[in-house]
Amino acid sequence: MTGSLVIAGLGPGAEGMVTPEVLEALDRATDVIGYIPYVSRISPRDGLRLHPSDNRVELDRARHALELAAQGNHAVIVSSGDPGVFAMASAVFEAVESGPAPWRDLDIRVLPGITAMLAAAAAAGAPLGHDFCAINLSDNLKPFDLVLRRVHLALEADFVMAFYNPRSASRPHQFASLLDLLNDQVEPDRLMIFARAVTTPQQEIHVVPLQEARPEMADMRTLVILGSSATRRIGRFVYTPRRA
Ligand code: SAH
Repeated sequence: MTGSLVIAGLGPGAEGMVTPEVLEALDRATDVIGYIPYVSRISPRDGLRLHPSDNRVELDRARHALELAAQGNHAVIVSSGDPGVFAMASAVFEAVESGPAPWRDLDIRVLPGITAMLAAAAAAGAPLGHDFCAINLSDNLKPFDLVLRRVHLALEADFVMAFYNPRSASRPHQFASLLDLLNDQVEPDRLMIFARAVTTPQQEIHVVPLQEARPEMADMRTLVILGSSATRRIGRFVYTPRRA
């Protein structure tokens, strides 16, 4: 039997946002691998082995999935949102690059999903209507100084910014440093969106001017969007006009 490895995005949370292509891959899977809360979204069935693992073991998880595929299984690695956005797809290719040569010939496919930034933007209106960038605030794999430098340069370019992994219990001060930087460099009424648990029953969307933004408004289930100088409110919606 020839094995395969699919790296699939489960979308931001709502069932209806899992693509038909991903559902089909999950139907064919013999093994599902991923971070515990994502694997818990998969219904158990006969012939399907679930392999939940802890966070921060991405490379081990990727190698495990590659081994399963090399042995002839249909392995699916699940990520939330899109698997290529601050998630498992890159980890798999890192593992392939440093792994045994036959892994390069495996049947590997990346199936996209709706990333948190897009679901959050849709819930708020159209804040990503003009040029934007996405920045991962986690410093697990890069120094936080680099994060602040990138934000500084993106402010200069007047991008809308989407911040992933804004604040965790193990690094509560970094989001506060980011807010300090923003308060130093941006007008106080610049709009910020705190979009929590988007598309789930716990969804909360808060839109505040920068001067009212507080570190506690963000946690690891929050996607934060900082508007550009043109981003504005219209009724309960936030949008960025299409022209600069
Ligand atoms: N691959 C994922 C991102 C993984 S990083 C994607 O494409 O969405 C994890 C971060 O994504 C979280 O800290 C949070 O900032 C964001 N996130 C994921 N799901 C979310 C949701 N339903 N609502 C708000 N933010 C979410």
